[in-house]
Amino acid sequence: RGAARAPHVALLSSPGMGHVVPVAELARRLHAEHGFTATVVTYASSDSAAQRAFLASLPPAVGSASLPAVPLDDLVAAGAAIETLLSVEAQRSVPALAALLAGLGKDGSLVAFVADLFGADTLRAARDAGVPAYLFFPSNLLMLSLMLHLPRLDAELDGEFRDQPEPVRLPGCVAVPGADILQPLQDRTSDAYCWMVHHGERYRDADGILVNTFDAIEPNASAILRQPEPGHPPVYPVGPVIRQPDNGDDDATGCIRWLDTQPDKSVLFVSFGSGGALSAAQMDELARGLELSGQRFLWVVRSPTDSGADPGANYYDGSKSKDYPLKFLPSGFLERTKEVGLVVPSWAPQVRVLGHRATGAMLTHCGWNSVLESVMHGVPMIAWPLYAEQRQNAVMLHEEIKVALRPKVRGADGMILGEDITKVVNDTMNSEEGDAMRTKVTELQKATRSGLAAGGMSHKTLNEMVAKWKERTFA
Ligand code: UDP
Repeated sequence: RGAARAPHVALLSSPGMGHVVPVAELARRLHAEHGFTATVVTYASSDSAAQRAFLASLPPAVGSASLPAVPLDDLVAAGAAIETLLSVEAQRSVPALAALLAGLGKDGSLVAFVADLFGADTLRAARDAGVPAYLFFPSNLLMLSLMLHLPRLDAELDGEFRDQPEPVRLPGCVAVPGADILQPLQDRTSDAYCWMVHHGERYRDADGILVNTFDAIEPNASAILRQPEPGHPPVYPVGPVIRQPDNGDDDATGCIRWLDTQPDKSVLFVSFGSGGALSAAQMDELARGLELSGQRFLWVVRSPTDSGADPGANYYDGSKSKDYPLKFLPSGFLERTKEVGLVVPSWAPQVRVLGHRATGAMLTHCGWNSVLESVMHGVPMIAWPLYAEQRQNAVMLHEEIKVALRPKVRGADGMILGEDITKVVNDTMNSEEGDAMRTKVTELQKATRSGLAAGGMSHKTLNEMVAKWKERTFA
């Protein structure tokens, strides 16, 4: 008998850094804590310099493979939503994935396949290869619960979510007004809506669902979803699974050097994730609000959505803005704020920024990775949701967990005015309400640390999962 081969896991990430990062980090943990080797599978369509640098920074035991581009021109030409593109891309990539898994399975070491939220249709490729098929859900239990209940909600619902008189109540979760529910569900006649219902149905086929959340942040939902029940697979909260600060994040824009010169907890970090951008008018108001507040800030600026920059291109590679984004700032803004502010174009080493002693709060679009990164570093938030499930995350962070404030939204067009930005920034940096948030987020930060340490809930949950996979090595 030869030396035992390390068990191997293949993990498929949907396009977008917000998806690739947690999937790759899960792979890194499976290697570091459990001795697995892994292949992170991405799509050629999402190849970017930032992604390549990130994947290259993983340990040698975590390799990567890229699925060849599949034609999507028909959908792009028809103006398909991003959710439709991601779903069809996954479906059309099943043959290439099946071939890849067959290759990886040859030596008998492949013990599991894990796909992320848009990958439910790829689970059959693993089934065909005789490998257990799991999902890794990169958002929270509120969102997972919505997906699992969606086929039922779809059957029961009369009209659109936003027209419902009552908020949506999912077991153990904060009540969410219909208008704040997941953006692609806001038009029930759309393809994106149909795809989400389809995924909700297919999630039931998974052998288990790993979730990037932790018990202390969603205790009630976790207690409910951890109970096995007919109709939904076992749910494993194993988070936070977040990016390591040294993974391909250099300080090309000088953020860290600048933070080094600032007082402790004094800087508001402003970032809208890997693809989020504002309209030109909204960008002006944000600039005005920050300037009026007089607070220190570090702002990652993207070209405005109405500047002709393609938001879809931003999605696939947010580290580039088509135009030089700083030129869209109000005239004189950089000069007037240079004593207190730093503005960087397109991309910042976010985890390093959040971990810096000078960072005091984050104004965030509420992408779940950003939320977890903020919580893990004990940084309270200002919630400024833009798309996807960010509005429901904002409801949860503000109303239930109480680690975020929200600016007032005035006017039917959803515009946030400079004065209201100034108020929410000052309240966050400098008020009793801000202090209460800081206390709460510090408690959660401690809970993330103990949860991930030996004997903690997230650690035990991943162990449980891994024990099942390891059984296969010796079966
Ligand atoms: N990110 C970063 N620098 C940036 C913007 C984003 O490092 O300037 C990283 C961030 O740390 C997070 C991910 O990109 O890990 C964004 O994921 P999230 O779920 O917050 O939002 P999405 O980009 O999916 O909307």
